[in-house]
Amino acid sequence: MAKIFCVANQKGGVGKTTTAVNLAAGLAQVGQRVLLVDLDPQGNATMGSGIDKRTLALSIYEVLLESASVAEARARSEHGRYDVLGANRELSGAEVELVELERRERRLKSALQAADADYDFVLIDCPPSLSLLTLNGLVSAHGVIVPMQCEYFALEGLSDLVNTIKQVHANLNPDLQIIGLLRVMFDPRITLQQQVSEQLRQHFGDKVFDSVIPRNVRLAEAPSYGQPGVVFDPNAKGALAYVDFAREMVERVRRM
Ligand code: ADP
Ligand code: MG
Repeated sequence: MAKIFCVANQKGGVGKTTTAVNLAAGLAQVGQRVLLVDLDPQGNATMGSGIDKRTLALSIYEVLLESASVAEARARSEHGRYDVLGANRELSGAEVELVELERRERRLKSALQAADADYDFVLIDCPPSLSLLTLNGLVSAHGVIVPMQCEYFALEGLSDLVNTIKQVHANLNPDLQIIGLLRVMFDPRITLQQQVSEQLRQHFGDKVFDSVIPRNVRLAEAPSYGQPGVVFDPNAKGALAYVDFAREMVERVRRM
């Protein structure tokens, strides 16, 4: 059975897509069968996996509207060695169209069930909002991975997401839990970041992943080459950290 995880945080630019893409590639490197679902109309996870969002024949949009299956709509990231359910601007229309439809928040869940046997991990890159698209992700998932920067307001921003997850857990998906907070773009030379990191540990205990992703320019450069950072420059600090994180996730899933 595939384990399904949302990478979510309602803030933009916090490292969701970088985490989704590099965790997908990292998991593939340690032998896992992975599907990456791009739920953001910006299509950054699609492009960052080396798939051109402008020329997608089928995408997550058709899957949500039930005119295509996951098996029909998926593409292969050749560099990353994982499958991708791609997204582009069309997806922003789905948000409006879904509102009218029955089971509107369960579309992704149903679609993924049909592809369950093909994967060990399904990772869902969520848009920076708590929209119907994100809701489809949360309803499908066993857990949420929350990337965050160790900044002063980091904890404050977290409460909306935590409340949404609680509501989805209570009403729509009893499996859902926060798997962990992932510290990203970390710079140990900045005292404030060390302090916030320490606070996170005190507050959330083992809900904070042991792996820490450093700020590393190679991770930021990789998408323009259509490659995950862990493939683009495997020896860069950021790449090594994401492969460590992939191993940590495999270990967590074993204990779930
Ligand atoms: P989100 O999906 O949450 O909007 P992204 O993953 O797109 O965030 O990251 C926002 C920006 O930060 C991007 O330009 C990305 O390349 C950069 N970035 C993300 N993680 C790192 C990192 N660990 N080191 C350096 N740059 C990073
Ligand atoms: Mg993103």
